Amino acid sequence: MSTAPAPPPSGTGQNASGTQGITQNGNSEPKPVNWESEIQLVSSLAKLQELENKIHELRQFVPAGLLEPLIPISSSQKATPDKPIAESPSILRNELDHAVRDRLASIEQFQSLWRGPELKPVWAHTEARLKEGSGQLLQPTGIWERDYGTLLEELTKAEKTNEDEKVREEEEAERTKVLSAEGGWTAVIEKFTQRGLPGVRVINGQNQTSLAIALAKAGLVVLVEGVKDPDSDVISEWLVSSKVSPGRAPMKMEEAVIDCLNSRPRKWDLAFLLDMIASYGDIKQTPCTKCNRLTNNAARLPTTRRLQTIQPPIESESKDRVFTFDALHTNCA
Ligand SMILES: [Zn+2]
Repeated sequence: MSTAPAPPPSGTGQNASGTQGITQNGNSEPKPVNWESEIQLVSSLAKLQELENKIHELRQFVPAGLLEPLIPISSSQKATPDKPIAESPSILRNELDHAVRDRLASIEQFQSLWRGPELKPVWAHTEARLKEGSGQLLQPTGIWERDYGTLLEELTKAEKTNEDEKVREEEEAERTKVLSAEGGWTAVIEKFTQRGLPGVRVINGQNQTSLAIALAKAGLVVLVEGVKDPDSDVISEWLVSSKVSPGRAPMKMEEAVIDCLNSRPRKWDLAFLLDMIASYGDIKQTPCTKCNRLTNNAARLPTTRRLQTIQPPIESESKDRVFTFDALHTNCA
């Protein structure tokens, strides 16, 4: 067990190497922090604990770390194939230089972490709490009683599992709603067709669960086929492929589009898939959301689609949800 670090005294240690970190990060306002959140507290404590561990590492630098190249000389038993005795004074001198430079770099890294934007709000909070408690230590024992890094991992994992579960439940509810709605999947296709998106043509297939979408401007025809769950006879997934004419190799763009479509979430959701396919209609005119260019260095179009984090609101009860996507190059995604 080791002692916890105290917050840094304000205005100290602004030497040449550390000042850079301050000007770079100091201008941006730190994001507001929710100190009521358990995970926030644990993640802040984990950062402090990490800093403290680094302090212990730094303590080994003087003199042991700096003099490391001398160890094989001082005791020939300690010379190993990795750490041989320096063959000449100039090699030894180089090794000593190297040892110093490495340690200095570690110290600079530590300083920028300490004063960095991530820890700024943590120090502010700690100082405020110390003031509140009239200088009383927050951890009276002065000892870390938990490994906050491990605790943070556990909390993050639990939170993720909860979120995943929530998403799964929501999707299941939506799916049940669509399936129980009048017309089922046929109604979904009809509603999509009625929107009359320019350049998007829906071609009904041989049965109710197969169709094709022709995107005139993109020069793409996407085939869609519902795959039934053998146990329940309900469509569990919609598969996507490109229309292969004999003697024609699929274009690179076509392949990339189909790959992206088949790696989408909500594979059961035909409405989602139709919106996603339609988002490729203007692929030859839509620049990448990230780099703002139409083609990347490999002369490829933005073939990746990512669901936008903020989705348009559903206009009214009678209107259906419309999904919107960002266009990205594969290398920008
Ligand atoms: Zn891009």
